[in-house]
Amino acid sequence: MARQFFVGGNFKMNGSVESIKKIISYLNDAKLDPNTEVVIAPPALYLLLAREHLKPGLEIAAQNVFDKPNGAFTGEISVDQLKDSNITWTLLGHSERRVILQEDDAFVAAKTKAALDGGIGVILCCGESLEQRESGKTIEVVTSQLKAVAEKVKDWSKIVIAYEPIWAIGTGKVASTEQAQEVHAAIRQWLKKELGDKTAEETRIIYGGSVSEKNCKDLSKQPDIDGFLVGGASLKPAFVDIINSHL
Ligand code: PEP
Repeated sequence: MARQFFVGGNFKMNGSVESIKKIISYLNDAKLDPNTEVVIAPPALYLLLAREHLKPGLEIAAQNVFDKPNGAFTGEISVDQLKDSNITWTLLGHSERRVILQEDDAFVAAKTKAALDGGIGVILCCGESLEQRESGKTIEVVTSQLKAVAEKVKDWSKIVIAYEPIWAIGTGKVASTEQAQEVHAAIRQWLKKELGDKTAEETRIIYGGSVSEKNCKDLSKQPDIDGFLVGGASLKPAFVDIINSHL
């Protein structure tokens, strides 16, 4: 089964009612590759606004979700609340949360399990720091982040893996096509070994880290790159070119 190309837009902590409505109306009016699955992740405060305005067929992700169903967890959002708001995806394990908010692999795995158990798809981010890459630990770091999830989750059909080298996020330093393909292939090998042929063949592995309208075409041609997670450029018209990079 061919893997459907997948492009996510991570708005991070950016935007306002006005600017998010503008991005959405731009996306609604653009001619988008009908074979690409498109998911945007605005800040939590704007999820409902996005759902109200974004046209059907384009999906919305939260940037995070908590692993407990409800209760005294100030500032958190539950899986049921996402479902109640017609939000079908969540990002989890973004490096900004792993690094700045100290989320560890076990916590990311617990949240991934909670989201999947509740029927929410997960864009599961993984990736190494520059120091880890320079000391030859890239594959070890990435697979150990994924292993924590595999210990809790056997069905990966609603997980999209986003490989995002930390040194490439928001820096303008994109991984070369060879560097990205090498890690994506290693992740697929790891999926094959740990979770079997079917999971390895069917799981989308997308690349994130300074993706732009200039570099997306070459990256999209790599056999193990099944789409992109886009930060900065998802706030700009260039996002449409990235969505259409596979055409
Ligand atoms: C991201 O935040 O997931 C990301 C890839 O950011 P950027 O595209 O800005 O590097």
